Amino acid sequence: MSECLFCAIASGEIPADVVHSDDRTVAFRDINPQAPVHVLVIPREHYDTAGDIAAADPALAAELIRVAAAIAQQEGVADSGYRVVTNTGADAGQSVRHVHFHLLGGRGLAWPPG
Ligand code: 5GP
Ligand code: ZN
Repeated sequence: MSECLFCAIASGEIPADVVHSDDRTVAFRDINPQAPVHVLVIPREHYDTAGDIAAADPALAAELIRVAAAIAQQEGVADSGYRVVTNTGADAGQSVRHVHFHLLGGRGLAWPPG
């Protein structure tokens, strides 16, 4: 069993409600959704943070955002609007240290975030 929760989800060791899967990325519904649409987009390869993946493999970092936009279309929130956000470190509330972009939509989202 992988020690990293999201590596385990990417490999299928731990089940998730997967909405997108390809050779480099996986997207699945958040277990504790904060909006009607709440999907997490991750790389199959492990990186701790968005900064790490952007430095090591900028094409893959961009691919995560492209996948999030495609899922927003698929989920019907592309026109109403959505947010793509990633948390880094304790102050931002990063609880899983495998980079993930949250795709949030389906309701009005407050700004600034809490
Ligand atoms: P973070 O707090 O690191 O920005 O986001 C981690 C997200 O992962 C949280 O929104 C949390 O609800 C979600 N999460 C944690 N454990 C699981 C799990 O086992 N399955 C799924 N689908 N989501 C999870
Ligand atoms: Zn991982």
